[in-house]
Amino acid sequence: MSLSQGREYLAIPGPSVIPDRVLQAMHRASPNIYEGELHDLTDSLIPDLKKIAMTKGDVAIYIGNGHAAWEAALSNTLSRGDKVLVLATGLFGVGWGEMASGLGVEIEVLDFGQSSPVDLARVADALKADTAHAIKAVLAVFVDTSTGVKNDIAAIRQVMDAEKHPALLMADCIASLGCDRFEMDNWGADVTVSGCQKGLMTPAGMSFVWFNDKAAKVRGDCVTPYWDWAPRTDPEVYFRYFCGTAPTHHLYGLRAALDMILAEGLDAVFDRHRKLAEIIWSAINVWAEKGQIAINVADPAHRSHAVTSIFAGSPNGDALRHWCQHNCGLTLGIGLGREPADAYFRIGHMGHVNAQMVMGALGTIDAGLKALDIPHGAHALSAAADALAQRA
Ligand SMILES: *Cc1c(COP(=O)(O)O)cnc(C)c1O
Repeated sequence: MSLSQGREYLAIPGPSVIPDRVLQAMHRASPNIYEGELHDLTDSLIPDLKKIAMTKGDVAIYIGNGHAAWEAALSNTLSRGDKVLVLATGLFGVGWGEMASGLGVEIEVLDFGQSSPVDLARVADALKADTAHAIKAVLAVFVDTSTGVKNDIAAIRQVMDAEKHPALLMADCIASLGCDRFEMDNWGADVTVSGCQKGLMTPAGMSFVWFNDKAAKVRGDCVTPYWDWAPRTDPEVYFRYFCGTAPTHHLYGLRAALDMILAEGLDAVFDRHRKLAEIIWSAINVWAEKGQIAINVADPAHRSHAVTSIFAGSPNGDALRHWCQHNCGLTLGIGLGREPADAYFRIGHMGHVNAQMVMGALGTIDAGLKALDIPHGAHALSAAADALAQRA
């Protein structure tokens, strides 16, 4: 006996809920790839992708997931034997660094643990120690999806400038673009990477690298023809946008998703994500009054508005996920990269998510805590309703 039949809520931090409008835009016969509508549609995506990342720089599109954008960003800018400074606040910072290492780049990892943001003083020390400017790039994850930690990209740039360090600043915005406010040019990121399946609400399979003139000038010898961003950003012929056949249906889907984001307005989109996150946190704070439950990141200023990681004690994280999924049709995120993984769960609240979905998810989790006899503070839903009423 299960109450899970009906529309499910995939509340994991990517892939995220796909709007019907995006799915419908993709439900079509293959278009002509040689001329016509698809070419105009692709051209129309470029300025809008720049708007979303808030940059006047270039953007290259790859048929691939976030890892593809990671590799594209690294390979276009770095040479074998170069060094990068990796700022790790969770699994994804570590992963991006490992990818650089795999390309033959030396990595220096500053690990800030799994519940805290980047410590700027340690970054300053590392840059100060690099008197020969061996470090060619600083890799920073804006929102680490495994921990929910949000880092201050503008402040990292300020530290680099204060040390007069010439390295590129590269930001991973895969989880957070179109959720948490990000201003590539104003904040001083030279390279930004993202994917289409999180805040951009499109099925996984496309990713993006934005880069400024400074990054374009640094040409690394790691780059190979397929990953080269130059022909992709200034294609003489359409075929070069994607180094082959275009991801036809994804382009239609992304067009619909960007239309939705821009019609709502970026500020409104960021505001919605912030308010939904605050509603979720207000419920968790009440659960936390009794038992072991706690939001992974203590300071709300350092939490993402797209994903929240929650400690629930082992094996409560896993038990709760299974209960919610099998009984209610709510899929929560796993304790990715955590030890023990079954002590954690994550709520993805990115993209096509509104208040009633969040309230449903919180009510389901509250029921799961009761059904599984996991100690928790009472009346969390009432706190969430108060938080919603104040913000609606
Ligand atoms: C999802 C994610 C990635 C990896 O993206 P894939 O599409 O799974 O390759 C990298 N970094 C962050 C911050 C992410 O959220």
